[in-house]
Amino acid sequence: MDKKLLDILVCPVCKGTLLYNKERKELICKADRLAYPIHDDIPVMLEDEARRLSLEEVGR
Ligand SMILES: [Zn+2]
Repeated sequence: MDKKLLDILVCPVCKGTLLYNKERKELICKADRLAYPIHDDIPVMLEDEARRLSLEEVGR
């Protein structure tokens, strides 16, 4: 995914910065423990589409 795009994307819930998980192709918000999926290089920045992360996943 484009690094520049990642730089301008923020979490729609808390407006915080996101971490890119290359393996899972997800954008992670640690504050909300949400993982936003990326479909065909397009990040889906919708809370309803996001995956809930376990505490263990966020801790890593
Ligand atoms: Zn957030």
